[in-house]
Amino acid sequence: MPRKIAAGNWKMNGTAADLDQIKALASAHPSPSVEILICPPATLVAHMADAAGPIKVGGQDCHAEPSGAHTGDIAAPMLAAAGATAVIVGHSERRTDHAETDAIVQAKARAAHAAGLTAVICIGETLQEREAGTTLSVIDTQLSGSVPEGASDSNTVIAYEPLWAIGTGKVPTLDQIAEVHAHIRAKHTDLAILYGGSVKGSNATEIFGVPHVNGALVGGASLKANDFSPIVTALE
Ligand code: PEP
Repeated sequence: MPRKIAAGNWKMNGTAADLDQIKALASAHPSPSVEILICPPATLVAHMADAAGPIKVGGQDCHAEPSGAHTGDIAAPMLAAAGATAVIVGHSERRTDHAETDAIVQAKARAAHAAGLTAVICIGETLQEREAGTTLSVIDTQLSGSVPEGASDSNTVIAYEPLWAIGTGKVPTLDQIAEVHAHIRAKHTDLAILYGGSVKGSNATEIFGVPHVNGALVGGASLKANDFSPIVTALE
């Protein structure tokens, strides 16, 4: 069985004052039966790792190179040295804002593996692609282009995040989630597959009941312990 993960992506939100949220989450789940992973901005990774107790901490992106002349970028070994155990790669906001291609995402996932980090590889279709009926072929292209050789449950997680569901409050039907997760599962039998896109405490239980959903990648509802904790509980 793939591992179960409740993952939070704080995106470009949070300062040291928000570490209270991680402390509250850790005290609400002192010995979680699922993996809890929070990915804060890079400025908070080390501070959060110190305060997180049983909660794992991840980066939101890494460079494909381990070091060098790349102003403003963060290397995977730096995240690992700061206490991270994972890094999100290929989030749709990175693919859009920074023109990241599948090849770039794959190189970043490789860099994560080389640094001993779990790569949380994000994929998902746009609304136009869904309406055109090309969702599964888009997913196939992203999977074959982004997931490196050597991916296993111990170093790779796939997050299926339909772009039209991210931060919009719109959630696919359970059948739509089931179709895509089953499609991914057929290709990656051993990897955890997370669903992402407007997951909340109120819809988490039904989403986690969908076959081949091994957890969630959560944006907005991961910022406050009171919002994220019910999602963790629903997965446990
Ligand atoms: C995300 O950023 O990956 C995400 C799923 O965001 P939200 O939960 O806010 O839709």
